[in-house]
Amino acid sequence: MNSSERENIKAAYKATFTKKIEEVSGNCLADASLLKQYQALAEMVMESITSQWAKTNTLYNKNESKQVYFFSIEFLIGRLMKSYLSNLGVEELVQECSAEMGLDYEAILAQESDPGLGNGGLGRLMACYLDSSSAMGMPAHGNGIRYKYGLFEQRIINGEQIEVADNWLKNGYPFEIRNPDKSVIIKYYGQIHSENINGNLTFVHENYEAIMAVPYDIPIKGYRNETVNSLRLWSAEPLEAFDLPSFNQGHFLNAVRHKSEAEAISQILYPNDNGFDGKLLRLKQEYFFVCAGIKRIIVDFKRSNNNSMDGFSDKICIHINDTHPALCGPELMRVLMDEEGLGWEESWKITVAAMSFTNHTVLPEALEKWPVDMMKDLLPRIYMIIEEINRRFLLDLDNEFPHDLDRNHSLSIIRDNYVHMASLAIVSSHSINGVATLHSKILREETFNGFYQVFPKRFYSVTNGVSPRRFLMNSNPELKTLINDSIGPDWDHNLFDLKKLLNYINDPVFYQKFDAVKLSNKVRLANYMARYNNVTVDPNSIFDIQVKRIHEYKRQLLNALHVLYLYNRLKENPNLEMAPRTFIFAGKAAPGYYYAKEVIKLITAIAELVNNDPSLHDKLKVVFLANFNVSLAEIIYPAANISEQISTAGKEASGTGNMKFMMNGAITLGTMDGANIEILDAVGPSNIVSFGLSADEVHHYQKYGGYRSIDIFEQDPRIQQVLHQLIDGTLGYGLSFQAIYDSLLLYNDGYFVLKDFNAYADAQNQVDHLFRNPTIWTKMSISNVANSGIFSSDRSIADYQREIWKII
Ligand SMILES: *Cc1c(COP(=O)(O)O)cnc(C)c1O
Repeated sequence: MNSSERENIKAAYKATFTKKIEEVSGNCLADASLLKQYQALAEMVMESITSQWAKTNTLYNKNESKQVYFFSIEFLIGRLMKSYLSNLGVEELVQECSAEMGLDYEAILAQESDPGLGNGGLGRLMACYLDSSSAMGMPAHGNGIRYKYGLFEQRIINGEQIEVADNWLKNGYPFEIRNPDKSVIIKYYGQIHSENINGNLTFVHENYEAIMAVPYDIPIKGYRNETVNSLRLWSAEPLEAFDLPSFNQGHFLNAVRHKSEAEAISQILYPNDNGFDGKLLRLKQEYFFVCAGIKRIIVDFKRSNNNSMDGFSDKICIHINDTHPALCGPELMRVLMDEEGLGWEESWKITVAAMSFTNHTVLPEALEKWPVDMMKDLLPRIYMIIEEINRRFLLDLDNEFPHDLDRNHSLSIIRDNYVHMASLAIVSSHSINGVATLHSKILREETFNGFYQVFPKRFYSVTNGVSPRRFLMNSNPELKTLINDSIGPDWDHNLFDLKKLLNYINDPVFYQKFDAVKLSNKVRLANYMARYNNVTVDPNSIFDIQVKRIHEYKRQLLNALHVLYLYNRLKENPNLEMAPRTFIFAGKAAPGYYYAKEVIKLITAIAELVNNDPSLHDKLKVVFLANFNVSLAEIIYPAANISEQISTAGKEASGTGNMKFMMNGAITLGTMDGANIEILDAVGPSNIVSFGLSADEVHHYQKYGGYRSIDIFEQDPRIQQVLHQLIDGTLGYGLSFQAIYDSLLLYNDGYFVLKDFNAYADAQNQVDHLFRNPTIWTKMSISNVANSGIFSSDRSIADYQREIWKII
């Protein structure tokens, strides 16, 4: 494009934008609020996406290629405007024009609400996978729930987490299209009876309660290509707004009660990460989007397939993200048999061939199991089908392993009066995968070993990945520019090309530029902390960051105890030689998770103690950033020097935060857990700092005993001092962290915090030494960026495609 063409395009953009402002606000540009400026831009974006979207859908409706449907109870998509603009290839243009029109581009983008429709890694993974599928021109869509309220907003008041409702829809949401013509009726409760209709045994559902699932579709625009896939989020509505007979009889509350009961289903996201909450409403949610999603897939498939189900599993993959959508199995069976008139055998073949399952955790408290009575009552037909799936499975099992009652019981989908969702998911899927090499091994050898013996060929491993567009190009534009200037722009289609950066691994000029980018990102975060936490930090200090959900297994406590230990060292020796450190934490605790909330309190108490002690000469700062979400994450990851990935080995399935940090040049300080192991493989042992018990060692202690935390306590005066400080008032008058203290000593430290403390302190010491040698440090940092290509979610999607979905 020559410069006069560009000027024409810019003039056209400005004119359209000005007109749009008038349309959305009834004001001229000069009088339009930031919100209206954002809404005008959003409408322009949607207008330029929708025709491509329609074209993509027309293509897909011909069913020529296989399509993947991700079912997930969470999609943590983050703000979309920047992604749309950059994927359309117009971001620079919009930035330039905004500046020339006197508008504040970043402030306009900040008007967008960040849809918190997920808790953490599991929901964010789906968003990265949608982003990558579109970028690779692959037909893949999402099915989930349009929660009216997403994950709560976290405020920190007097050092404690306070939860505030997340009303993300309050200003409307411009990137969704409501499609009421594609609504689906969902039936709960009631009775099933069988009838002989024309010689066929037919199941009839009576006296059910019906609600309506209405889809809202969000376009997922591919990066600089023609593909626009869909994220379909279902909203619950009553069949009729109110009950007219009740209303006419004057029972006004009754008249609207069923409306709010229906809407309750998609009202709110359950705020547990890696934890199971067996509430009836949650089971309603799970069936709700499964039933609606499956129905639309079948309607669309049949319409372009001569009204026939032939070849369904050659064209459709139903991929379930963890077990919340495991009812996809029995629901697909129900539709195939009760609505499409197929027999059991044929339906079962189709179901297993269509379904695949990704497991996300081995924590026992997270494995879903529903009381039989609850399931039977709410979903009578589905329960019947689960019973039959189980009966047939156990028969097969008995043929293969005769009279093995223990095996039969432990693998049974229904046992001890519960429906076990992981068992259901495994039995109904042709593929089961873990999300990192170690995690997949633990699934095969421990968690699902019984199933692995029965179905060895069903087990796979696909290591997670993250979107390099969101977590590198768009959130770290200065690094993107530096990389472009160094190796050219083509790495944007193949992240493995980042390896070319290794050509600069000894180039002092490149070092300078690379360090300047990191510093600039640290200044951006420092400004944020000055503004929202009222803490001044030195951007030249080590930014040592742990951001993720607060959970015992993630061991924020280990980090916090070590900060207290460092504080004690500095108090003892104010001249201690160490690089100044800023410890940064962020993360939400589940509202009902007392212990996790105590950990937040502890961190903020330590921050109070440390940040207000002038004798430390600014060598130590501690900051807890409130309300960790995708938008905040995008500011944090690029600013890190140290990525804290310190879970108890064997507990973190993969981690994806670790990958985002690495892509932005942070050095991983981690245990040999989840994808940390693969980070070590990718970057080499000299560019990572690892420590602590191995998963095998943890497993051995858990199985055979032999660890006594009290022994460590008694032998280590550093630990004694720190633990006493938890309860002796050091952290504030009247503040005592007795529950934490007791968990470590009285209850024998179930997550091996004290056991790993010494190794962690040594590793932190090593970090200090490395950082004080800037040449070594920068080299390590560049190596991390250069070797992060394998953690692109484009690679993950290619793996799924090749190994599991087998799309040609
Ligand atoms: C990546 C991400 C996570 C997952 O972080 P882990 O460190 O892997 O637990 C959670 N929340 C948000 C907002 C993220 O972007």
